[in-house]
Amino acid sequence: MNAKVYCEQLFERVVKRNGNEPEFHQAVKEVLESLVPVLEKHPEYIELGIVERIVEPERQIVFRVPWVDDKGQVQVNRGFRVQFNSAIGPYKGGLRFHPSVYLGIIKFLGFEQIFKNSLTGLPIGGGKGGSDFDPKGKSDSEVMRFCQSFMTELQRHISQDCDVPAGDIGVGGREIGFMFGQYKRIKNAYEAGVLTGKGLVYGGSLARTEATGYGLVYFVDEMIKAKGMTFEGKTVVISGSGNVAIYATQKVNQLGGKVVALSDSNGYIYDKNGVDLALVKQLKEVERKRISEYVKVHPTAEYHEGCNGIWTIPCDVALPCATQNEIDEESAKILVKNGVKAVGEGANMPTTLEGTKVFLDNGVLFAPAKAANAGGVATSALEMSQNSMRLAWTFEEVDAKLKNIMVNIYKNASAAAEEYGYKDNLVYGANIAGFVKVAEAMRMQGLV
Ligand code: NDP
Repeated sequence: MNAKVYCEQLFERVVKRNGNEPEFHQAVKEVLESLVPVLEKHPEYIELGIVERIVEPERQIVFRVPWVDDKGQVQVNRGFRVQFNSAIGPYKGGLRFHPSVYLGIIKFLGFEQIFKNSLTGLPIGGGKGGSDFDPKGKSDSEVMRFCQSFMTELQRHISQDCDVPAGDIGVGGREIGFMFGQYKRIKNAYEAGVLTGKGLVYGGSLARTEATGYGLVYFVDEMIKAKGMTFEGKTVVISGSGNVAIYATQKVNQLGGKVVALSDSNGYIYDKNGVDLALVKQLKEVERKRISEYVKVHPTAEYHEGCNGIWTIPCDVALPCATQNEIDEESAKILVKNGVKAVGEGANMPTTLEGTKVFLDNGVLFAPAKAANAGGVATSALEMSQNSMRLAWTFEEVDAKLKNIMVNIYKNASAAAEEYGYKDNLVYGANIAGFVKVAEAMRMQGLV
């Protein structure tokens, strides 16, 4: 069968079978479009149903999470774990706690995770999970009670050889700690490799906290270097002010760039002099406050309500590091008009399909999330390796491995793009490079 027609028909089936999940449809659409030349060269992937199987999760778990708030009232949230693909290793992917979470978000993230994890070159399959629980405004005890209840159910579906969750939006070191404690208590075993993003004193890896942000900047640096540019003297706009945004800012600063804007879900700050990262860390990591507080300390900086406005700030490099679909077609056009030279996706799917097209059509260097933010999960896999060996590498060792992985992802994605006739299109290059390894493993393992 003609590969293009096959992909179009498969996409129609995916939409029909997974109604009301637009984020999942969007993620599948982009991958299927990019795979057409691969399927032309390898018709056996169609005959063996590889693509048809890859868009269907191996297992989806939805469960009730009851807990009691500080007022003594019962609260009920919904928990999810989607075990998408285990062809090349145990399911691996973060947990997201955010009120917007529903099955479609977890499926889009789990689907993307298959290709991202494959790109790292490490033996990890794809999965994702989370809850519609909102940690914002909750006390530490409430977060603990929620995490314990969440893990009481999740524990029966995960283990260090089966499925290894980590953090994502709303899940940082505090939440991972509470969940690890509950897992250990129920299992009565110190299975350190069952979760990653752990604290350094109980099996965490140095450089894991920094890994996604650092990895993003290593990737973008490699991409712009190939076109004769560096970060030195560049103006950079970064959305978000969470884990990924903070450490991307730190690495940009180290490479001589200037980050002039950061945001949260309420609004954004613009500081022409370059943002004061120590203050942002204090506000966000310690005090858990809103980014608007920044201008109380730096009155010359500006604060604006709303998220989209951040993309109207002129910059050389834009790094969306908050959430999905934050750069739409209109924002992409404004960035292009203002002379953006490179865009690197720190968040998962932060650019809409239309926005991505604007960048690619205008020759903007574009680093897609699957490749550019893979440093987090890669370092999680390095954390699992250290846990298995029961030893710990130094920060420098982990950071050097991370950098090496990001450089290799860039090389593999760009080589795949070139091989299949999409020169300089890293979106398609990353999808193809990630897909081929998983497809080969699935072919060898038979119809499962
Ligand atoms: P955090 O929870 O640490 O930070 C998220 C940031 O994005 C916060 O500033 C948050 O603002 C903002 N944000 C969240 N949701 C929205 C929204 N709907 N609209 C506008 N802003 C929003 O998460 P991370 O930094 O860990 O994750 C950010 C992105 O990076 C996500 O897409 C995640 O999937 C991706 N990612 C993360 C990895 C990791 O290792 N942490 C690995 C790979 C990808 P507020 O505080 O107001 O909620």
